[in-house]
Amino acid sequence: MSDLTAFTLAQARDALRNKEFSALELTDAHLAAMEKARGLNAFVLETPDRARDMARASDARFAKGEGGPLEGLPLGIKDLFCTDGMRTTACSHILDNFVPTYESTVTANLWRDGAVLLGKTNNDEFAMGSSNETSHSGPVVSPWRRRGSDVKLVPGGSSGGSAAAVAAGLCIGATGTDTGGSIRQPAAFCGIVGLKPTYGRCSRWGIVAFASSLDQAGPFARSVRDCAILLRSMAGHDPKDTTSVDVTVPDYEKSIGASIKGMRIGIAKEYRLPGMAAEIEGLWQQGAQWLKDAGAQLIDISLPMTKYALPAYYIVAPAEASSNLARYDGVRYGLRVAGRDVIDMYERTRASGFGKEVRRRVMIGTYVLSAGYYDAYYLRAQKVRTLIKRDFEKCFGEGIDAILTPATPSAAFAIGEKGRADPIEMYLNDVFTVTVNMAGLPGISVPSGLDGQGLPLGLQLIGRPFEEETLFKLGAVIERAAGNFKPEPWWA
Ligand code: GLN
Repeated sequence: MSDLTAFTLAQARDALRNKEFSALELTDAHLAAMEKARGLNAFVLETPDRARDMARASDARFAKGEGGPLEGLPLGIKDLFCTDGMRTTACSHILDNFVPTYESTVTANLWRDGAVLLGKTNNDEFAMGSSNETSHSGPVVSPWRRRGSDVKLVPGGSSGGSAAAVAAGLCIGATGTDTGGSIRQPAAFCGIVGLKPTYGRCSRWGIVAFASSLDQAGPFARSVRDCAILLRSMAGHDPKDTTSVDVTVPDYEKSIGASIKGMRIGIAKEYRLPGMAAEIEGLWQQGAQWLKDAGAQLIDISLPMTKYALPAYYIVAPAEASSNLARYDGVRYGLRVAGRDVIDMYERTRASGFGKEVRRRVMIGTYVLSAGYYDAYYLRAQKVRTLIKRDFEKCFGEGIDAILTPATPSAAFAIGEKGRADPIEMYLNDVFTVTVNMAGLPGISVPSGLDGQGLPLGLQLIGRPFEEETLFKLGAVIERAAGNFKPEPWWA
């Protein structure tokens, strides 16, 4: 039998329906691959028993001629999604013994459609980071290496475990969450496809909250088609999340291969950063040319508020985080460190339960929300956010269908290389992605080429609200032109 971990999700789906192999065989092949790849630290919890039970149930449904759209397909789930009876930690010490008694809506939708849970993937603590180095479970090692080098690279963050696992063939698809770029940036670093849906497209219920007005769940996969298939299952209205929007979920897979003739693609000069690497600029031009060759029209646009997005994000996100993380007090769940009195217990619990980056965010957030600073920082950032949104609305109002940008300002960097002395160095990774969250728009990252050192680079497409289909259409065109990218399996 051929290598069962080499299939795309769509290929495996079709092969399972044709009974070329069983769901159990497919799951076993992935569990074996996970075992060999433990050095990557992509999973923080492996759930082989649950996986085999779910796969057997899928095989039983196949035998009866039944089966959902994702029947028997093994997935990795970011450890930010609550999984009923399965430890969920957000990769924080403060939650390391937390076992939810409920299932997140997004994962419940995946299981409803027949998918199989392989385990929980590593991420930056509470999804705060761009390199997966802030996880209490240790950093994820990217399956990619620079040509001729064995230096360990980051997979990107915060959904680094999911991205690494998909790129390394440990799972056929995975979930992520994206607050400022945590799906699109690791997808670009790992040479795979990642999509952040429109805010409200996927339910946030049962996902550990970071910054509630920005957080959104989305899929990772090795092809645009696979992402389209996964999103259809993940998305949908959920009365349990008041920000979830009640609009029908289209059959996204139908967008793959559709014509893009006449589509108007915006190229915003504000994304051309001073000192930007020539390779990134070249990739961007190449991507634009591919779209043009397929019949799209390129149009120069301006998004003048872009330069304020990153500073405004790093006020809004920590402000919401400081409020969301107030619930971790050692009383109801998670870690408790005893103290002299209740205040002392809170302080000790939070001081030892949260890592350095999380403590930094809680302090920044509390500061910008405090009396006297609220107007100067938080309120100002919210106003800037409105202006960023208006920039996009203006372009879309003038008939732009989507905007093409680089996904990241560089390829993956080495573990330990960035952000040690100055956290801003790490925050700068999000420069092309945070605008999308600030405006609530959908964005996709599609692998588009390799840099001079053999590392993957991605392009980002930004769409109108609830028009993920446009992103799938355009993403598929770029994918067809660029080809697929796979790391050499040095870890196996
Ligand atoms: N890197 C960004 C941050 O640290 C975004 C993280 C995310 O999208 N979860 O805030």
